Amino acid sequence: MSFADLPAPLRAALADRGYAEPTPVQAAVLQPEAAGRDLLVSAQTGSGKTVAYGLALATELLGDSSRLAPPGPPLALIVAPTRELALQVKAELTWLYAPAGGRVVSCVGGMDPVAERRQLAQGAHLVVGTPGRLRDHLERGNLAPASLRAVVLDEADEMLDLGFKEELEAILEETPAERRTLMFSATVPRGIAALAKGYQRDALRIEATTQGEQHGDIEYRAALVAPYELERAVVNVLRLEDPRIAMVFCATRATVARLHGNLSERGFSAVALSGELSQAERNRALQNLRDGRARVCVATDVAARGIDLPDLGLVIHAELPRDPETLLHRSGRTGRAGRKGVSVLLVPHTRRALGERLLAAARVKAAWGPAPSAEAIRARDAERLAEQARALAAEEPAEEDLAVARTLLADPALAAQGAEGLAAALVRVLRAPLPAPEELSEITARPPRREAPAPRAAGGQDGGQEGIWFRMDVGRNGNADPRWLLPFLCRRGHVTRQEIGRIRILGRETQFEVAPYAAARFAAAARRAEGEDAHIRVEPMQPVKGPPRRPRR
Ligand code: AMP
Repeated sequence: MSFADLPAPLRAALADRGYAEPTPVQAAVLQPEAAGRDLLVSAQTGSGKTVAYGLALATELLGDSSRLAPPGPPLALIVAPTRELALQVKAELTWLYAPAGGRVVSCVGGMDPVAERRQLAQGAHLVVGTPGRLRDHLERGNLAPASLRAVVLDEADEMLDLGFKEELEAILEETPAERRTLMFSATVPRGIAALAKGYQRDALRIEATTQGEQHGDIEYRAALVAPYELERAVVNVLRLEDPRIAMVFCATRATVARLHGNLSERGFSAVALSGELSQAERNRALQNLRDGRARVCVATDVAARGIDLPDLGLVIHAELPRDPETLLHRSGRTGRAGRKGVSVLLVPHTRRALGERLLAAARVKAAWGPAPSAEAIRARDAERLAEQARALAAEEPAEEDLAVARTLLADPALAAQGAEGLAAALVRVLRAPLPAPEELSEITARPPRREAPAPRAAGGQDGGQEGIWFRMDVGRNGNADPRWLLPFLCRRGHVTRQEIGRIRILGRETQFEVAPYAAARFAAAARRAEGEDAHIRVEPMQPVKGPPRRPRR
């Protein structure tokens, strides 16, 4: 299916945008079998689904004619979960239907309802809005449903998640029974299936993204980090990838506020998006991202729904998503419209199993590894610098730049350093505004769980692999007790309880065993934390066979 069979004004709009080929979801809704039918479409965000239903509505809106009649009572209604998505849908449908003389009006929570009423009174072909506000306008008689030939529910699963079931049902009840109903949803859980059953007739099921097929333009990575170094790991991922726009997801508003403050303090131009912002504040934040004044957006899941920033090249999950759908939704903010994107899950090593489950349930394959090290970032900085310098050196230098160069070379203090010294000083000048990379504990990606030694068998006794023994200079004399020792060692050494084997409390010291694959990580983390509890020193011992008989002092 191509765009060739579409009515001329729609073809013109698409050509004007440079959209030559339909995306898979567009091809699917344009197939002859779908014409005029109710549709239940699972399509990922970023797949071109807005244009897809825009095109699918052509028959209802235009019929056989190539221009729309002057606007009157609306012909099609589009319901979307959030203000941003509704406004983006309005923008997409406005350009798509502009050559056909289309008028699109939006009705969204948080905007002036009186202005919306006025807009509706002037007539529209398409109305786009959020569930609560649309229902209000319907109930108050501002929005006349009688002429509606089609209703689209966009991101239907999100609307149910946000608790809009009642509003959606009320809207569907109010609209003519013979309308066409198009449902778009990333996933089709039971609630969506029930809604489809209740309000659609003989719907054609379209799966634009075959189950199990990963979004080809998104590269997934999972980085194991120490639980206490999540924020530092965010810094390093941002620094290494250095995208035009990055989105960092947190689970709560409190984390958004803290991380936003932290990143701004380190010199990232960051904005925060969370529920408590006014519409004007949100718009300003998004505008800052679009025009390049800000490059990092820290957001909660709800606040980030539906955001479409084509330049967004990186998604960081600073806190693990609550379910596989959220993982896909968050990641779908990047890799849009054929561009490449990277989605990085920061997984506290204590929650690796959860991270693995989430990725598996979302049918996503990720490359596991450590978070980027400060060293890797410095190396990447050097590469970028060299690339930029080479590119610029290939151009004819401007006279004013040459003048500055001559002044620098003539400066006696600089000239004394030679070319190398001068270049090194300039590198420092260029590097100064960049946020400093963080030194992170080394977290070695341990083998998948089923290959790991059995828990609590870190030592040899029950036939497990031999553990590595460490000692700590607190014993019974210092109230050593496994009840506090175990959490203390986990915290201090960035290991899980399962990775600590036997613990032997002696008079003036405690000896304990760490699973071999975790020993290097434990040693490195314990060394780094040395200053915090100076009276407790953790140091490795020679590996011993079985429990040591007597401590050597
Ligand atoms: P959506 O999935 O509706 O959020 O769309 C994602 C992005 O893809 C939007 O910026 C669209 O304008 C863009 N888009 C839609 N259709 C096409 C197409 N056929 N070719 C290229 N880009 C498209």
